[in-house]
Amino acid sequence: MSKLLSVIGVAAAAALLATGCSGTGATASDDRPVVLTTFTVLADIAANVADGHLRVESITKPGAEVHGYEPTPDDVRKAARADLVIDNGLNLEAWFARFVAEVDAPHVVVSDGVEPVPIAEDAYAGKPNPHAWMSPLNVRTYVDNLVRAFADLAPAHAGDFRAAGDRYGDELQRVHDDLVAALAVLPAGKRALVTCEGAFSYLARDAGLTERYLWAVNAEQQATPQQVAGVVDFVRANAVPAVFCESTVSDAAMRQVVAATGAAFGGVLHVDSLSTPDGPVPTYLDLVRHDARTITAALTGRAG
Ligand SMILES: [Zn+2]
Repeated sequence: MSKLLSVIGVAAAAALLATGCSGTGATASDDRPVVLTTFTVLADIAANVADGHLRVESITKPGAEVHGYEPTPDDVRKAARADLVIDNGLNLEAWFARFVAEVDAPHVVVSDGVEPVPIAEDAYAGKPNPHAWMSPLNVRTYVDNLVRAFADLAPAHAGDFRAAGDRYGDELQRVHDDLVAALAVLPAGKRALVTCEGAFSYLARDAGLTERYLWAVNAEQQATPQQVAGVVDFVRANAVPAVFCESTVSDAAMRQVVAATGAAFGGVLHVDSLSTPDGPVPTYLDLVRHDARTITAALTGRAG
């Protein structure tokens, strides 16, 4: 009995710790307006603009797949209590339209005003690529939308939101400049970025890379033999030194490309989710820096 109790005690403590580590700073007496975002990347960007005046939460957890997520009844209850619900838009959250139809809270699409890059291939050809946040300059548009939405939600703090948005916007510009400079060292023959999902169109555009991928959007997540063969041909024809896969999907198909071509597996890239606070990409700015470092190291043969 005492053993069972102590197990329950540990579980309860772990649950408390998990709550404490979620970055929301929520307490029983926390009466700040609640902003609910669809995924962790958006929650971090929003928290930077909120400047401590709002309680920002994410529906999906660190490491979770966001495209094909199935909202739980608890998510719907949470959204019903939220003062503002925020999604990326550009068809990222396939589940979101149904979800938001069930809740009354006002709803803002942060990618409004971003110039979309169309998806080149597959069933999604011509539709906007949803991963607009992979360009830090696009995220400045996200920030402008958040500053406006937060000022409507909590007008007393409008000045703080503007100031925090300006500060964060400067950091976004710096991260963009560093990303472009880091990837500029790649020689002409080594400027191909081969990944599992076609999530890097915006980053590739910013950095002048050629993008090639196994599948366009993480909905199938199972590369067909034709998709694997197409990437194998591309890697061979262009003598691509290293290929990559993302943290939220299986890298099994890309390992087949590695085995067939002799290219190195260049590492795990982060796009659709942050890590936990003690992981490699606890913030969005860390995510961009991490990916730039991983890509540059692998494609220049300096991988560890
Ligand atoms: Zn994705």
